[in-house]
Amino acid sequence: MQWEAVIGLEIHTQLATKTKIFSGSSTTFGAEPNSQASIIDLAMPGTLPVLNKQALEMAIQFGLAVHSEIPAITTFDRKNYFYPDLPKGYQTTQMDAPIVGRGYLDIALENGGTKRIAIHHAHLEEDAGKSLHEDFQGMTGVDLNRAGTPLIEIVTEPEMSSAKEAVAFLKSIHSIITYLGISDGNMAEGSMRCDANVSVRPKGQEKLGNRCEIKNVNSFRFVEKAINYEIQRQIEILEDGGRIAQQTRLYDPDLDETRAMRSKEDANDYRYFPCPDLLPIAVDPAYVQQLKDALPELPEQKRQRFTEQLGLSDYDAGVLSSSRPLADYFDKVAELSGDAKLAANWVSGELSAQLNRDAIEIDQAAITPEQLAGLLQRVKDDTVSSGAAKQVFAALWAKEGQTADEVIEAKGLKQVTDTGAIEAIIDEILAKNTAQVEQYRAAEPDKRGKMVGFFVGQIMKASKGTANPKAVNELLAKKLNG
Ligand code: ADP
Ligand code: MG
Repeated sequence: MQWEAVIGLEIHTQLATKTKIFSGSSTTFGAEPNSQASIIDLAMPGTLPVLNKQALEMAIQFGLAVHSEIPAITTFDRKNYFYPDLPKGYQTTQMDAPIVGRGYLDIALENGGTKRIAIHHAHLEEDAGKSLHEDFQGMTGVDLNRAGTPLIEIVTEPEMSSAKEAVAFLKSIHSIITYLGISDGNMAEGSMRCDANVSVRPKGQEKLGNRCEIKNVNSFRFVEKAINYEIQRQIEILEDGGRIAQQTRLYDPDLDETRAMRSKEDANDYRYFPCPDLLPIAVDPAYVQQLKDALPELPEQKRQRFTEQLGLSDYDAGVLSSSRPLADYFDKVAELSGDAKLAANWVSGELSAQLNRDAIEIDQAAITPEQLAGLLQRVKDDTVSSGAAKQVFAALWAKEGQTADEVIEAKGLKQVTDTGAIEAIIDEILAKNTAQVEQYRAAEPDKRGKMVGFFVGQIMKASKGTANPKAVNELLAKKLNG
């Protein structure tokens, strides 16, 4: 039997507001426990929430970026449950009229195509506090700093059919929220967490299978592994004639497996009802339009501009548009150097390799777009060979504040195009290697190509990489053959 996996995601993203969604407490990460919890976050009787306008605005920006409808009226609801880190006894969230309606996102597939994934809706809600188990022997601590932090929860339709697609979707969301600047997207700090709903069904069957929900997975890699594990687990149960119990499960990265947490609750277990403390919000279409007009260029549009206007390959455009700082850096180098393709090669090649080696991000790069563009201009006008350009790059990286021209001058890396000087080097190398020259002349023409490489290598080495390769090849061929 052939099985097909079905995946729907619920993604919680922490919004980068200064203060909480219903109170004036700070949202800064890492503060002393319970130092950022006000009487509202602590649910003192008689306190009333006031919606943070910035949170609403960020949610609308997100909605616009994923082609969603923004409703004219949005409302808040209470989701009731008991947990020590939820002092109110309910979470203020949105159920009936969420701020972000139906939308979609196109994800890139491995075969080069794209797939449209529908977004069911996204809603605003408050985060809960955190239970701390590690520092307390036989007890649990509760830190309410996170209580009331604004989140958007993004809910997709069950339309992804592999772990890879789910990760591609998640990465797209990550790139959109960081482009918009509405979240830092830091998964390690919990600013973006994902619940993966997974089911399987016989290939070709319309009806969805029973699903399990894997809670709070907090890295792209773990999402992929958790989903793959879960798909396999479900297939094995079904092939043994069993059935899948609807469950909430946990992913354990150490054992690389998912484990049952509890049987899945239904919406009506939560006794949702409209929050009487928060009035419905009328969303002015003119205000939404204003936000729409002010949206930055988003990854999708950037990718398109990179291929259509700058002539980059789909692959380069995809890599360079994946993060906004990287795209901004590339854009600057392309503009200043006047050669987008060369800029793309260097940013996704030499520069990215160096960032990887140093394990740093583009905003910590030791070479500015101006410096790199300066170097690329010298590559373009043949002042330096591409080999020498790599040496210049390394020197610029190692010591701040120099220009490419200064390094080229100081290190004597100017490319020699003067044919007299190149000829002198060639003569010297041929004179030193008379045996190889004879071998070359005696060889069949189809064997000669490889032997030319030997001479070129020697000549480039003797010139410290400064000889113009084109001139070397031409002059060498003349001397060897003539
Ligand atoms: P709940 O409110 O119980 O979490 P929803 O109907 O809101 O359930 O769905 C939550 C998520 O689960 C959505 O992302 C949806 O796409 C996904 N989902 C629903 N049914 C399935 C299924 N059979 N297989 C995989 N994912 C599913
Ligand atoms: Mg759910």
